[in-house]
Amino acid sequence: MATRRGSCLCGSRTYEIEGELDGVWVCHCSLCRKVSGSNGIAILIVPRARFRWLAGADHGISYELRPTYSVTRCATCGSPLPVEEDENNIYLPAGTLDDPLGVGITQHIFCGSKPDWDFEAENVQHHGEHAG
Ligand SMILES: [Zn+2]
Ligand SMILES: [Zn+2]
Repeated sequence: MATRRGSCLCGSRTYEIEGELDGVWVCHCSLCRKVSGSNGIAILIVPRARFRWLAGADHGISYELRPTYSVTRCATCGSPLPVEEDENNIYLPAGTLDDPLGVGITQHIFCGSKPDWDFEAENVQHHGEHAG
């Protein structure tokens, strides 16, 4: 069974997940926009039994923002990290994965909350590195 690893920016917290996943969800709700400071959060929904911490399980700061909404960040670098969202699933910020996933974005949710700039304009430029 495939095992994939992920980590925060400073490497204090590392985890692994087992098995294949259906795809990445991108949530554009107003809460995800605010806590990310961006156009939403790309997450993987991982069954709890397939997730485990390798290091730094206790090295996070959790913010309970709503009864059903919390975020956890590394206490050193502030990277968002997997949250135990309910008794069955871990919500895992997809950008913290270090290994290839093999599937792409399959769901965009709460699109009604997108800001008006969140679309691909004409003549969008894509750069392999910083545009400079
Ligand atoms: Zn960190
Ligand atoms: Zn959201």
